Amino acid sequence: MKTDRFTLDGKVTIVTGGGQGIGKVVAGELADQGSDIVIFDLQDATEVANQIAEQHGVSAMALVCDVTDPDQVAKAIDQAADRMGTLDLLFNNAGICLHKPALECTPTDFTKVVDVNLNAIFFVAQAFARWLVAHNKQGNIVNTASMSATIVNIPQGQASYNSSKAGVAHLTKSLAVEWAPLGIRVNSISPGYINTEMTGNVREDWRQIWTDMIPFKRMGSPEELAGAVIYLLSDAATYTSGADLIIDGCFTVV
Ligand code: NDP
Repeated sequence: MKTDRFTLDGKVTIVTGGGQGIGKVVAGELADQGSDIVIFDLQDATEVANQIAEQHGVSAMALVCDVTDPDQVAKAIDQAADRMGTLDLLFNNAGICLHKPALECTPTDFTKVVDVNLNAIFFVAQAFARWLVAHNKQGNIVNTASMSATIVNIPQGQASYNSSKAGVAHLTKSLAVEWAPLGIRVNSISPGYINTEMTGNVREDWRQIWTDMIPFKRMGSPEELAGAVIYLLSDAATYTSGADLIIDGCFTVV
């Protein structure tokens, strides 16, 4: 019999920011590998969850949860576990981007981006790991960082975003080491420019500059990230933790 080390059969995966964009598409691909899905999002993503359940024959549900609020996160984790029976995996992916020159960034602007992109990544990872420990279980986490953790995007100013994502990359390594004895692996993906709602309404001349700078001469699709998330969450990656997988059409290579 053939062994499929990439299978997620029988697992329950939480996907934050799964109401649209990368989270929505990757949630569908994780379900295609057999995982049940719980979406945490600011918007009610019940329709997305229902579509995933119908299309892939898994259980799927959605909870409205602002991931920047640790109390809401803790409640949502318990609710998800109660309704799905258990928790195994986390795709910690919700994020926002602000294009604003650093000189014009208000304290509120900067704090908001760091709250969603870095602080909330920690709150969700911590609540998930606490649940695993309390239930004597092991599990895996993939955080969504960005190539902006490594490079500075141009021509737009986005210092808040870039620094928050650099934080995610190093938080990932820090948690990976701290939680290695618990059997909890923590990795990140760092996408380049991906076509989603987040990048869809950006100025066309900026998008043209980005495309010109990408060796692949095109932006990526969320589907092109899914394989990496499946790999890192699956038993194909049992010796991989603290890794950051850059998926950017060679942007950071040149
Ligand atoms: P989208 O804006 O398309 O989707 C992000 C989702 O996260 C939305 O459903 C949004 O809900 C949700 N969200 C935002 N804030 C919160 C919050 N406080 N609590 C719960 N959910 C929240 O973005 P992408 O799919 O493009 O991005 C997903 C991740 O990938 C982000 O972390 C982003 O930084 C990262 N990334 C994206 C790249 C790209 O080019 N698109 C490149 C590199 C990294 P709502 O719509 O209601 O606000």
